[in-house]
Amino acid sequence: MDKKLLRLALPLTILIAAAGCSKQPQDEAAGYPGDKAITIVVPFAAGGPTDRVARDLAEAMRKPLGNATIVVDNAAGAGGSIGANKVAKAKNDGYTLLVHHIGMATMPSLVRNIPFSVENDFEYLGLINDVPMTVIGKPALAANDYKELQAWIQQNKGKINLGNAGVGSASHLCGMLFQQASGTDMTAVAYKGTGPAMTDLIAGQIDLMCDQTTNTTSQIEAKKVKAYAVTTAQRVNTPVLKDLPTLQEMGHQGFSVSIFHGLYAPKGTPPGILKKLNEALKVAVKDPDFIRKQEGLGAVVVNDNRVEPAEHKKFVQGEIAKWTPAIKAAGVYVE
Ligand code: ASP
Repeated sequence: MDKKLLRLALPLTILIAAAGCSKQPQDEAAGYPGDKAITIVVPFAAGGPTDRVARDLAEAMRKPLGNATIVVDNAAGAGGSIGANKVAKAKNDGYTLLVHHIGMATMPSLVRNIPFSVENDFEYLGLINDVPMTVIGKPALAANDYKELQAWIQQNKGKINLGNAGVGSASHLCGMLFQQASGTDMTAVAYKGTGPAMTDLIAGQIDLMCDQTTNTTSQIEAKKVKAYAVTTAQRVNTPVLKDLPTLQEMGHQGFSVSIFHGLYAPKGTPPGILKKLNEALKVAVKDPDFIRKQEGLGAVVVNDNRVEPAEHKKFVQGEIAKWTPAIKAAGVYVE
């Protein structure tokens, strides 16, 4: 080949070879998920509210992912940061996902030095739902409504135990804000999730807890715990919860805590796989069975554009911007 032609041909060959090597998003996703099981990491103990959401979601996403096997791994501890860190560092091949809640927005300001970056270490796959919280008490408490609870709190200052799922969890955040609103310090008892904390509350080992309705609704209905109030600005429509007052109605101005759950993958998961997962999530949040189960537990399944990855991320960034100064102002962060 003459030298001039060779000079033209070489870069062309390199370009063609490079194009052959770089996989297109469709290629990476072609066999996904196939027979290999997808693991959804829940950063709290089994039998709790985040676990409930993740298991119902896994069921609803199975079919749109070609009857995939989806298993739940409860990587609990440290208020949710152990499980989140596990996914941040996991292989980014679409087989390890995370279901997490508001902790993604509040943990960085509630807890110092978490070992991952909420904004940089994850792919955002879409929001799942919004869930109110409830203030509940052990069944033996004499207080029958919120006013009586406040009187009991004042009479028992210094003696009250409040369960939570560890520093940085939603129950930790809600519990701190509740203590501040009640003007009382309580002793926090940390669990690996509010599933096991609920068992102890029912047994009377702890006095109070603030937890998502996806854990509390069935226990309230079965009268295994006493329910005093909801944490959202509006009352909750679900039959079991509709008569509970909001904390705002009870005089705690501005008290408004609602828990969102979202789906995440490790940063760098191939775009074609992210697309498949987001499409499956979109099918799941329209699944009547999933919606019925979640609504029965007081949750509102996402029905707006926050199911889109970019909107999900924007929403979490908004929550970070909202909660960081609120947590600092309330002085409820942990050094
Ligand atoms: N409700 C818990 C929390 O306080 C978490 C859980 O067990 O799902 O964050």
